[in-house]
Amino acid sequence: MTGCIVRAVLMCAAGAVLAGLCALPAQGGAGDKRLDIYWIDVEGGGATLIVTPAGESILIDAGMDGGRDPDRIAAVARQAAKIQQIDHLVVTHFDIDHHGGAAEVAKRIPVRKVYDPGGQRGSPDPSYDKYLAFRQTAAYTVLKAGDTIPLRQADGAAKVSLTCLAAAKKFAPPGPAQKPNPIPASESPAYAEDTSENANSTVLLLRFGDFEFLDTADLTGRLEASLVCPVNLAGEVDVFQVGHHGLDLSNNPVLVRSVKPTVTVMNNGHRKGCGPKTRAALKATDSIQANYQLHKNLGPGADNTDEELIANLGPADGCKANHIELHAAPDAASYAVRIPARDHQRAFKTK
Ligand SMILES: [Zn+2]
Repeated sequence: MTGCIVRAVLMCAAGAVLAGLCALPAQGGAGDKRLDIYWIDVEGGGATLIVTPAGESILIDAGMDGGRDPDRIAAVARQAAKIQQIDHLVVTHFDIDHHGGAAEVAKRIPVRKVYDPGGQRGSPDPSYDKYLAFRQTAAYTVLKAGDTIPLRQADGAAKVSLTCLAAAKKFAPPGPAQKPNPIPASESPAYAEDTSENANSTVLLLRFGDFEFLDTADLTGRLEASLVCPVNLAGEVDVFQVGHHGLDLSNNPVLVRSVKPTVTVMNNGHRKGCGPKTRAALKATDSIQANYQLHKNLGPGADNTDEELIANLGPADGCKANHIELHAAPDAASYAVRIPARDHQRAFKTK
């Protein structure tokens, strides 16, 4: 019995409500009726893989150009998630740490459908041209605010849906159940208008029963406030992917406090992200029980989360690219976050 399993059993014994998670380790792929999320280490880029209970896969962003990140993405997809294709690739915006690896990922594992916010990248970028050439070979859809990506449902599992809340600086219209946010936009720090590609970021909300996961990509502070004020389009979520790799241009405290996550995951690098204002916003949000990081920030004086919650402790050179994974039980009432390479697992109750 591995230390990981021993720890998982002990944790489950301590919390009867989470008993359904005791059998979690080692499974993956289609047929297990769980929802799985994998945060793949692409050294401060984006690469988040979701596998639905029906075994359908969604890759949100594809890391950098070159071989490193596509190799890592394909390895996690095949070996950890146990999938043989990417059903949906969402490129959230046209920065190289998000679209850069797409064409090379598709050479390693088939990619069926591609989505992005449309439009054109503002500044020349050879990797963008490579992405456009790849995109022509796939089934392609412009993903607009308010769109949903149709997903298959699995018998015996909670319902799953994936909604685009924002894209290309436009926001989904509020639904009838969405109420005014008691936190006013006036509490937001001042952020300059964002004229960069980050402002076009696609924001995705994944729902699985009561479980909710929010990925705001690289949306920056002023637009983050628009996402939740005056109406909170995202609602309160269980898991929040820390915006923009943890850079301080993003992670407006008004956003973080409004979405009230239980768990956060930062896809930072050993020198990128994990900014002091971001860390302060996370630490000031009472709902958060655990802040995960893909990397320890090795900069002088960096404020990192608990070492136990960090997947990779060293620099990029020689990095083993440990990933973070989440498994939500078929009824979506509970979930576990794991760092398999570090024998870490912690269980959480869905809100
Ligand atoms: Zn980025």
